[in-house]
Amino acid sequence: MIVMKFGGTSVANSEAISRTVSIIRGRLGQKPVVVVSALSKVTDLLYRISDQAAMRNTAETEKLLGQLRSRHIGLAHDLMSETPSFCHEACVKVNEICDKLDSFVGAVCALGELSDRSKAVIISTGEYLSSNIICCTMNARGISTGFMDARSMIITDREYLKGEPDTDSICVKVPVAVSSAYAGNDAVITQGFVSATLDGEPTVLGRGGSDYSASLIGMAIDAEVIEIWTDVDGVRTADPRTVENTKCIEKISFEEAAEMAHFGAKVLHPLTIEPAVKKNIPIYVLNSMNPEGKGTVILQSSFIEDGVKSVSFKENILVINIFSTKMINTSGFLKKVFEIFSINKVSVDLISTSEANISVTVDSSQNIDKVVEQLSEFADVYVDRDKSQVSVIGKNIINLKGLLRQTFAPLAECKIYMISQGASYVNLSFVIDRSELKDAVRQIHKYLFENESRN
Ligand code: ADP
Ligand code: ASP
Ligand code: MG
Repeated sequence: MIVMKFGGTSVANSEAISRTVSIIRGRLGQKPVVVVSALSKVTDLLYRISDQAAMRNTAETEKLLGQLRSRHIGLAHDLMSETPSFCHEACVKVNEICDKLDSFVGAVCALGELSDRSKAVIISTGEYLSSNIICCTMNARGISTGFMDARSMIITDREYLKGEPDTDSICVKVPVAVSSAYAGNDAVITQGFVSATLDGEPTVLGRGGSDYSASLIGMAIDAEVIEIWTDVDGVRTADPRTVENTKCIEKISFEEAAEMAHFGAKVLHPLTIEPAVKKNIPIYVLNSMNPEGKGTVILQSSFIEDGVKSVSFKENILVINIFSTKMINTSGFLKKVFEIFSINKVSVDLISTSEANISVTVDSSQNIDKVVEQLSEFADVYVDRDKSQVSVIGKNIINLKGLLRQTFAPLAECKIYMISQGASYVNLSFVIDRSELKDAVRQIHKYLFENESRN
């Protein structure tokens, strides 16, 4: 069996879905478990709907709900105009899901109160809509396809908007659901991103979480491979939206891919690698708009050569600088500091320490108010905003002669606030002003990957 995950752009409209269905058709011999995201931009729309509802903005909420319904009804017609009974079935499903959402959102509007649990219900609707339409389309086109509700098998804790998977339960439930949905069918389909607690409360895996769903399912069914179908030709030497002349990386290790994803490369959800590593399942990153392309394969490190693979970045991070003379010659200070981060569930990326100072970087999407308040009880705390983090990633980069020179040479005029090289020797990261980011990343990429400008 294989897992095939299709992201938002691969299911954005009828042409994209038609391409996706033919890609799946080409894999039927390998018994695909298909995982789909919401149509491109639909999850963003659902976030807007939940925000507007929380503000009791009824007119705007209704307008957005109308757009959601008409986009999906229109899509069902575009895809299945020649098979009216399947088109009808898809429209009935879309209307059922949208009717339920309308009344749920109506209740949120009336109360003006939005819990994380309610938000999880709203933002997961996109995946239910897309998976139902694509399932009907596959059946309409002669691929008999069984439907699975991710909430019956992707089990998490009660962190409603970023559920922590319970891998033991997932490994029990997924194989049962897959084999029963497969009975008599050529393929099965389910929603990415969507999950639930053991007692059925709705949760989601966090933004971009469909990759993670695919990998969890792959782990649970011991898949031969996990395919992540997206809108770029594989994992590249940098984000092609920011940097010109990026190259496709043919092979990359699990560790390198995990570091890239953790340090900003949006092509994979940061936690995607972990479940695949557990069962040593190769992950392919492929382009649904160029299905013949080779893409990238992510494998065990022993198959991968040393060397720089990519430059990733996080555009908007915060640097928290903690100063205290109590740090000097005392043990337990670091423990006290990091306990505060842990209790408040704020995750730290880079750390650097000196005699009386600790600096850490955190993603700006996290709320650090409580952390700062609690640290301020025993230390002076300064937060630097508008900073970016750049990471040069590759296996054993510590062994590369001249790496520091090559990385920092293009940054001669740039102020560097922090430098950190992980003990894993896979990652060299540093912090610069946000205003310098794009230029810096382009220059470093040129220097490291475009041979003519090297040395
Ligand atoms: P999907 O909807 O398929 O999940 P995403 O938008 O989440 O797609 O991820 C694909 C995007 O990731 C690409 O369009 C690209 O801009 C971005 N990206 C960032 N870094 C990289 C990288 N190193 N290699 C390839 N793509 C990258
Ligand atoms: N639809 C979700 C999102 O946009 C999950 C995903 O696409 O991976 O975040
Ligand atoms: Mg994604």
